[in-house]
Amino acid sequence: MIRFEHVTKRYDDGTTAVDDLSFEVARGELVTLVGPSGCGKTTTMKMVNRLIEPTAGRILLDGDDVSAVDPVELRRRIGYVIQQVGLFPHRTVLDNTATVPHLLGVKRARARERAAELLDLVGLDPAVFGDRYPDQLSGGQRQRVGVARALAADPPVLLMDEPFGAVDPVVRERLQNEFLRLQQSVRKTVLFVTHDIEEAVRLGDRIAVFGQGRIEQFDTPSTVLGAP
Ligand code: ADP
Ligand code: ADP
Repeated sequence: MIRFEHVTKRYDDGTTAVDDLSFEVARGELVTLVGPSGCGKTTTMKMVNRLIEPTAGRILLDGDDVSAVDPVELRRRIGYVIQQVGLFPHRTVLDNTATVPHLLGVKRARARERAAELLDLVGLDPAVFGDRYPDQLSGGQRQRVGVARALAADPPVLLMDEPFGAVDPVVRERLQNEFLRLQQSVRKTVLFVTHDIEEAVRLGDRIAVFGQGRIEQFDTPSTVLGAP
């Protein structure tokens, strides 16, 4: 589903952030990218939706070289959630969730109906939270809206970059559990970046352990934990 073939990214200042990376994520698989700050996780992720272009190599999405896919089409196929979800401040929670599918051509009423379902799915009762504005939410609730919004266009692929990194440990654990439950029902192909090995192990079907620009180990949680 997502396939990296000898992908390298060198920034203009000469930093090699990603170095000849090859790996594959299967359809419906959740792969966590874990490793210390600065080892190339975010760069890797952003090359999938073309926020960053590789210096060499290619990335295939369902067989298509992403460098040949129109960015608007990519947005339809890939949902993206980051640590500080940027919600539209002057739109309600329901509108924040319904806007993207509406822009992509879904009728307004249908987009709002679907948004309400998605809010429910991420644990926010639309009757309670739908009409609130982002500044009337807790951090954990904002991240939930971010996840709902990323799912709104029903993309087969989700990219998540430390989505639960900015909330306290208790809320983080709750969000992780909810996300696992959600993933069981929606079965997206997910790349999930974290610097927290516990989070990587809890969520990942497989874990890509990053060192400087490379994957040092790529295996199931039990094997990664059992390794010397
Ligand atoms: P991580 O997500 O693992 O923290 P990043 O992918 O953000 O790592 O960064 C990998 C390396 O690339 C780091 O050394 C970082 O400083 C460098 N880097 C990231 N973005 C840029 C940029 N725009 N220009 C130059 N170097 C960058
Ligand atoms: P979470 O566990 O989802 O992060 P918090 O413990 O941070 O929630 O917040 C507790 C409650 O306070 C939540 O139900 C949230 O709706 C409410 N809340 C937080 N910030 C605000 C705000 N600015 N205005 C109204 N309600 C708020």
